[in-house]
Amino acid sequence: MQLESVDNIICKEEMVLEEFLRVVGDVLRRGGVEVTVVIDRESKRVIENSKLCVALKKVGVKFIPVSYGVSERVFVSLESMGFFDDINPSRYRVFTNTEELLYKNWPTPLVKLANLSSNGISVWAKLEGFNPWSMSVKDRIGWYMYRKALERLGRDRISLLVESTSTNTGLAIAAMASIYKAKLKAFIPSTVSKTGETLLKIFGAEVIRSPKPLTVELIDDVEEIARKEGAVHLNQFYNDANFEVHLRYTAKELELQIREAGIEPKAIFGGLGTSGHMSAISFYFKNRFKGVKIYGVVPAPNTAIQGIRRVESGMKWVHYANIDNIVEVTPEEAVKGVLEIVRNEGIFVGLSSGAVYMAFKKVVKEGKLGEGDYILIFPDIGFKYVEQVSMYIDNG
Ligand code: PLP
Repeated sequence: MQLESVDNIICKEEMVLEEFLRVVGDVLRRGGVEVTVVIDRESKRVIENSKLCVALKKVGVKFIPVSYGVSERVFVSLESMGFFDDINPSRYRVFTNTEELLYKNWPTPLVKLANLSSNGISVWAKLEGFNPWSMSVKDRIGWYMYRKALERLGRDRISLLVESTSTNTGLAIAAMASIYKAKLKAFIPSTVSKTGETLLKIFGAEVIRSPKPLTVELIDDVEEIARKEGAVHLNQFYNDANFEVHLRYTAKELELQIREAGIEPKAIFGGLGTSGHMSAISFYFKNRFKGVKIYGVVPAPNTAIQGIRRVESGMKWVHYANIDNIVEVTPEEAVKGVLEIVRNEGIFVGLSSGAVYMAFKKVVKEGKLGEGDYILIFPDIGFKYVEQVSMYIDNG
């Protein structure tokens, strides 16, 4: 067995999602691989265990255990493969461009909400609002979907992009489009705030507002426009790069953070929109840690909270994620949650974060959570939602 740099190995085969999950689930559960990938000594092409090679590449290992001739049975840990090396922040926060500012700044902070922790229950929040462009979890997918499109198509063939967005993904793609000198047409549903629309314009996007209330309802129209105008449609709802970036980075960095904090969470709470980030976190943690429960947070029936939506409106990855419970929250509760967090901890997070916090409180109140550590994923910052929050304050 020899460890070979992943860049030298040719395993280009595409893999369907189910197969990828089966292989990665196995690797995560074992904490490594138990068999080598067979490659040709000269060409470095994979001869055997090609799917393992593709899956390892996708989750960002730096080295792949290989052998020549026949496959060997040998255990190689995640650490030995450089699985965690992706998470490599710039120590003194020096970045040579604004794209590095995103991925060399990870992990986003994990902070204990000390004033909101009590009775043996500790609450930790992962602050996705610390991402630099949209100040949300969506920078990760805007970056990764765009990077994958660059690998596939080349920079010259990406001059116009189209996307259905409830603001954050649009801002992230618009940022990447600015970096790579392209343009974005952002299609927003009727429920997006005026602030969201203005922010998209500030980021240089052309904005088209639809009378339909949900982003997911605009996809077919956007696809049609992409075809007519020769634009690139990254499509956050179906693009597996959405799920993969959270598996490769978000979930992985969270494991490193809980190790540093010396905790093992009993449950993780997060909002469901495309379901990208919580599906990946759920998949990752369920395979790596026994007994961790996952709670998905959605708006109550017939209500809207920007960024999250109900499972029955259709989401791709949630079906593979084994999420334990769905918790419903009203928009009023979400605002209340935002105010409770800022007035106890001094951080102003967005409405879906308020929803996640209130969902956590509801489950605590039902007596379903014992003493221990709990993680809440806060998708963005509150400054975008001043209109909605101020309405609540003004109305008492
Ligand atoms: N919260 C906010 C503010 C969002 O913008 C989004 C996605 O748009 C989400 C939550 C949901 O994230 P995901 O699409 O990964 O399910």
